[in-house]
Amino acid sequence: MQIKLKEILKNLFKCKHYGALLYSNEGYCPACGKYLKKNYYIIRCSHCEIKRNAKKEFGKIVPCEKFCTNCGEQEYYIEKYDKLNFVDINYAIEAKEEVDIQCRGRDFEIWVENKDNEAEFSTSKNEKILLPKQTKFLTTEG
Ligand SMILES: [Zn+2]
Ligand SMILES: [Zn+2]
Repeated sequence: MQIKLKEILKNLFKCKHYGALLYSNEGYCPACGKYLKKNYYIIRCSHCEIKRNAKKEFGKIVPCEKFCTNCGEQEYYIEKYDKLNFVDINYAIEAKEEVDIQCRGRDFEIWVENKDNEAEFSTSKNEKILLPKQTKFLTTEG
C-alpha cells in the first residue's frame, strides 16, 4: 500500500528535467540529480518509410497525423538515435531519459573459473569475459 502511494507521488512530482542538458548530451539534472542522456526519436511510416511528423503525448512519441501523408498507411515504427542528424531536425523528438546509474560503468563482469574445472581449463584461469553493455533506460515524461 505504501509502495503504491510512493509510486503515485513519484509520478506526480516527477522531475521534467527542465534546465538539464542544455549544452551537453548527457549529465546530471540540476533539479533532481538524476543522470540523464539525450535521445532522439523519429517516426517512420512502416510502408513507405518516410519520416512522419511526431509529437509527444503523455510521455509517448506518437505521429501528428493518423495516416501517412505520402502513402496513406497507418502503421509506423519508431527509430531511436543518440545523436541528432541535421536532416532530421524537423522530425526528431528530443527526450531526456534517466540512465540507471547502478548499471552504468558495469560494462563487463569478471568471471573466475570454478576450482573444479581447474585442470580442464588451466589456460583460461582468471580470464575476463566481456559481457554486452548493460545500460537500462527508464522512460521519462517531459
Ligand atoms: Zn530532473
Ligand atoms: Zn507512407
